[in-house]
Parts: sequence; C-alpha cells; structure tokens
Amino acid sequence: MVSPPLIDLHTHSTASDGTDTPEQLVAAAHRAGVDVLAITDHDTTGGWDAAAAALPTGMRLVRGAEFSCVSPTGREERPVSVHLLGYLFDPTHPAIVAEQSRLRDERVVRLARITEKMAADGYPVDVESVFALVPEGTSAGRPHLARALVGAGVVGSVNEAFATLLHNGSPYYVPKADTPVERAIAMVRAAGGVAVFAHAFARRRGRVVEPSVIADLAAVGLGGVEVDHPDHTPEDRELLRELAAAHDLVTTGSSDYHGTNKTTPVAVEHTDPDAFDALLSRTSGVDVLVG
Ligand code: AMP
Ligand code: ZN
Ligand code: FE
Ligand code: FE
Repeated sequence: MVSPPLIDLHTHSTASDGTDTPEQLVAAAHRAGVDVLAITDHDTTGGWDAAAAALPTGMRLVRGAEFSCVSPTGREERPVSVHLLGYLFDPTHPAIVAEQSRLRDERVVRLARITEKMAADGYPVDVESVFALVPEGTSAGRPHLARALVGAGVVGSVNEAFATLLHNGSPYYVPKADTPVERAIAMVRAAGGVAVFAHAFARRRGRVVEPSVIADLAAVGLGGVEVDHPDHTPEDRELLRELAAAHDLVTTGSSDYHGTNKTTPVAVEHTDPDAFDALLSRTSGVDVLVG
C-alpha cells in the first residue's frame, strides 16, 4: 500500500529566523520523509528560489510566507500581534512587495531598539554584533538577538532568552508596526494565494484572539486555520477544529521548524492530504513546484 504524503506547511530558513539555509531546509525535510514542504519565512519570499533549486526528485514545494499582523482580540483591550500564513501568492504583487519591504525595514529598526535598551541596562550586546548575524536582505527577528545573547553567555539557549528577556511582556520588548490582519488576508487573496491563521491559540507567547475573531476573519476571506502546531494543547486543537467546521476553513498542521533556534523537529506535525487539496483549490497564484 502506498503511504499518504507527509505534508509540513510551516517552516523557516535563514531568509528569516531559521538556522538552515533554504537548501539545508529542503534537505532536512527530505531526510525526515517530507513529501510536501512549505517554506514560510517571516515577511519575505527571499528563500523561494534557493529552496526550489534544491528540491529533490519528487518532493513538492509550496511557496509561502508568514505575515506579521495585528488583530483585535475580540475583547475590550488593545490589539494583539498575530501571524498569518500566505501560500502560493504571486510574489510580484505590488502590495505584497511593498508591505514585506516595509516590514523588513521595521524589523531592523525594532531589533536595534531592543538591543539598545538591553545594552543601556548593561547587557553585553550591541547593534553591530547582532546585525552581523542577519545577512543583508533577510528578515531580522528576536531569535537573532537571542543567539547573540547565547553567544555572549547571558543565557544558555534561544528558548531561555525568550523566557527571560525577549518575550512579548518583557520591559525590553518593542512592538513593530504590523499589518492589519484583514488587510493582509485581502493582499494574499488579491495575489492569488490562500491565507491561514498561524498558531491562533498559542497562549505561551502571550495574549491570543477570541474564537469570534476567527469567525469574523472567515467572513472576510480567511481560508484556513493552523490546528496541529507544537504550541497548541489538545483543547486548543479541538476548539479550532470546531471553528473550522463551522466556518468552512481548511485545517492544517505544521512544525514551525526553525532549525536549531527551536527544539521542534521538521514534520513533527503535519497536514492531512485532503485538507492540502482543499487549500490548493483556493489558490490561483503560483503553482506548487515539483522536484
Ligand atoms: P519576531 O519575529 O522578532 O517578533 O520574533 C518572533 C519569533 O521568535 C517567532 O516567530 C519565533 O520564531 C520566535 N520565538 C518566539 N518565542 C520563542 C521561544 N519561546 N523560543 C524560541 N523562539 C521563539
Ligand atoms: Zn520565526
Ligand atoms: Fe509564527
Ligand atoms: Fe513561524
């Protein structure tokens, strides 16, 4: 009997805050038995071509990105930062090109500010050494600073850096001007892609949205929700599955692999092949590439 394809729809490379180059990412996924891999770097499509060129025979590549967004929570309080996965959109669509470029610039300024705040408090980090870890043109993120903190001996791991100094509630946290999530959904759809709400209920990262927000977004074109994600509890998954059924959303599963910046192995969570087909049926941008 032929086994079903193994599908991982959320991974990061050195184009953003993963530690594997796009080539290494594809190779790691291949070794793990992945048949369908999505590359979804934060606010960039910069890893697409290198990943495509490295595809082993028969492996399929879903070109995507993770968009930094801001959303109402559904409660009477300030908005919250959320992540939206966009798949198979046209990467030359002007609104996407402009917004991703703006956000990458925003990320540089913001990471420098966090670093300066920590340096002012005596932490042995400086902007120059942090940005030495961020190659030109890639998306800067807190994991880069986390690595600098590990290198300086301040913390023992990237996880510890987030738990103690870099989390969203930290005095060193600096927000960035993220895209309103409704606008990001519209942008992805206008470019022929499908939008999936990433790790919607990952509470350990901070505040999360109410279920009503997912319903509202479904009404304005959200195509799916990431259900099986390492940061979701069984109860989170159950609730997301119910929401998806009620609002005609595709359910996905993925590892959110970041190489050694996280302990999560590639393909530790995966997407059902029928759900993947349903996702594809909602796209008209770029094709899935076959190696
Ligand atoms: P930023 O993009 O700068 O807002 O940083 C957020 C990114 O940091 C997330 O997309 C994750 O890749 C990573 N991250 C968040 N929390 C943790 C954590 N506890 N341990 C390791 N990486 C994390
Ligand atoms: Zn990340
Ligand atoms: Fe994310
Ligand atoms: Fe991610």
